[in-house]
Amino acid sequence: MANERVFRCFTCRTYEAHRPPAGEPERRWLRELTGKKYVDDYWMCTRGECRNVRYAWDDDPFDPPLRMPEFD
Ligand SMILES: [Zn+2]
Repeated sequence: MANERVFRCFTCRTYEAHRPPAGEPERRWLRELTGKKYVDDYWMCTRGECRNVRYAWDDDPFDPPLRMPEFD
């Protein structure tokens, strides 16, 4: 997928491909979660069904770790 980057995934415990939030429902979920307006620096693990969400500079920003809901 375009726009993927490899980061450490806290849940997988390995380096995996991640993608930024895709679409308004995912961005809205992140905005409500974080209270931030800009959420494109959050990344979701795309390995299998992992969907663990991390911040660009922090692989473990949420306690407990959070998975991106499926909005489709
Ligand atoms: Zn993962």
